[in-house]
Amino acid sequence: MPSWLVVGTDRHPVSTLRYNKGMDYRTAFRCIAGCPGEYPLWKPIYRCPTCGDLLEVTHDLDALRDRSAAAWMRLFDERYKRTAWPYGSSVWGKKEWVCPNIRDESIVSMDEGGTNLFWADRFGQELGMRDLWVKLCGNSHTGSFKDLGMTVLVSVVRQIIEDGGNIRAVACASTGDTSASLAAYAAGGGIPAIVLLPRGKVSTAQLLQPIANGALVLALDTDFDGCMSIVQRLSEDEGIYLANSMNSLRLEGQKTVAIEMVQQLDWQIPDVVIIPGGNLGNVSALGAGFEMMASLGIINKQPQIVVAQAQAANPLYLAYKNNWEFAPVVAQPTQASAIQIGNPVSFRKAIRTLQAHRGIVTQASEVELAEAAARADRTGMYNCPHTGVALAALIQLLDSGEIDPAARVVVVSTASGLKFTDFKLRYHEGRLPGVTSLHANTPVELPNDYDAVRRAIDQHATVGA
Ligand SMILES: *Cc1c(COP(=O)(O)O)cnc(C)c1O
Ligand SMILES: [Zn+2]
Repeated sequence: MPSWLVVGTDRHPVSTLRYNKGMDYRTAFRCIAGCPGEYPLWKPIYRCPTCGDLLEVTHDLDALRDRSAAAWMRLFDERYKRTAWPYGSSVWGKKEWVCPNIRDESIVSMDEGGTNLFWADRFGQELGMRDLWVKLCGNSHTGSFKDLGMTVLVSVVRQIIEDGGNIRAVACASTGDTSASLAAYAAGGGIPAIVLLPRGKVSTAQLLQPIANGALVLALDTDFDGCMSIVQRLSEDEGIYLANSMNSLRLEGQKTVAIEMVQQLDWQIPDVVIIPGGNLGNVSALGAGFEMMASLGIINKQPQIVVAQAQAANPLYLAYKNNWEFAPVVAQPTQASAIQIGNPVSFRKAIRTLQAHRGIVTQASEVELAEAAARADRTGMYNCPHTGVALAALIQLLDSGEIDPAARVVVVSTASGLKFTDFKLRYHEGRLPGVTSLHANTPVELPNDYDAVRRAIDQHATVGA
C-alpha cells in the first residue's frame, strides 16, 4: 500500500455524525511531500503551509476495510445508475471512497459518471486489435470529465457555506471545460461563480456554457497559465474559493473514472490506459483510483498508464525524455486547446503516478491528432481534439511495439466532440493549418432535382467504399 494513502490517527471533527452513509470514515488533506500536519476538507487550503507543495486527500483505509472487497463491489454495483439520490451518480455511489464526511443534503449532483465504455470494435480491428475500449467521459452533464470532480468540490463548498463558512464565490482559471463545469454546478448549488478564460482560446460552446449559467466570465488577454496565476492570487482572499484541480477535492471525484472502468469490465483490470494530459490532475486522479482499489483488495495488479500530450504543449513529454527532470514551457497554440498548458500544476503528482504505473508519455503533432480523431470518427465515434491526441498515442505505441495489439487498452475520451464544432468544420473543409485532411467529407450541394440526386448517389454511395 502506498504510504501516502495511510492515515494514522483518529480525530475527525465530524466523526461522531452517523446519520448519513459513510460519515464516520475519516479523511484529511495532507502534503504530498510528506510534511507533518493534516487539515480538514472544510478548510480552504490548497498548498502545504510548510513547504508550499500540493495537498492530497487521504482516506482511512483501515476503517474502509470494514467491508471486504467483494462487499464494496456489490455495494457499488447495487447503486450504479439507480434512483436513490445521490447514490445513482457513479461518483456518489462510491461516496465512502470519495468524500465520506459530507451530508447527503449538501451534495450538488447532476448525475456524474456512468458514461459509456465504448467497445471500439471497428477502429480496433483497423489497428489489428481485439480489445480496444474508449471511455466516453464527455457524455456528461457539461460535456467533459470535469463534472466528476466538480460535483465534489461544489458540494464541499455548499456544506461550508451552510455551516456558516465565509465563502463569497468559487473561482477558476480554465481552458474551457473547467469553467463550464464550475458554472453549472455553482448555479445548481446557488453559489456565485467567477471564471477566468484566455480570450479567444476556448471554443464557442465552452465560452457560452458559463455565460448561460450566469457566471461572471472574465476573458483575459493571456493564456491559461496567465489566468492560473491570477486566480491563485484571488484565492488568497479568504472569501474566494479556488476550484482548479490544484484543489485536490476535484481529484477525489475524478479518481472514480478508474473505479468505474474496472467496474464496467466486470471488475477486471485493463492492461493499458491512455489519457490526454494538460494540467495533469486527471492522470494523477486515475492513478489514485487504481491504487485505492489495490489497497482495498479489488484489484491485484496495476495497469500501465500513458499520458498523451500535444507537441505544442509538451512539458511532461520533455521531462519523460529527460529522466523526469521537469521544466515548464510556454505552450504554443494547438487544436487540443484544453491541454494547451505549459506549466502544469500537478506535474509532481503525475510523475509519481507514472513511476508507479510503468508510465509512458507521448506527444502528438497537430497533423497526428487531427487525423487520428477523423480516422476514428469514420468508425462511428465523434472525437474531440484531446481524444485525438490520445488516439494518436495509441497508434504511435502500436507502431513502436510498446503496446501489444493483444492488450486490453482503454483510451480516456475527455470531452464531447460536440463542443469542438469549429475543429471538425475546419478539418473537413481542409482549413486546419498544415493538415491534409485525409478523411475530409463535405456536403454535396445540389439543385432541387431528382436526377441530380440519383447521379450523386451513384457516384458516391458504395458499400465498403
Ligand atoms: C481538462 C481537460 C484535459 C486535461 O486534464 P488535466 O487534468 O488538466 O490534465 C484533457 N481534455 C479535456 C477535454 C479537458 O477538458
Ligand atoms: Zn509540505
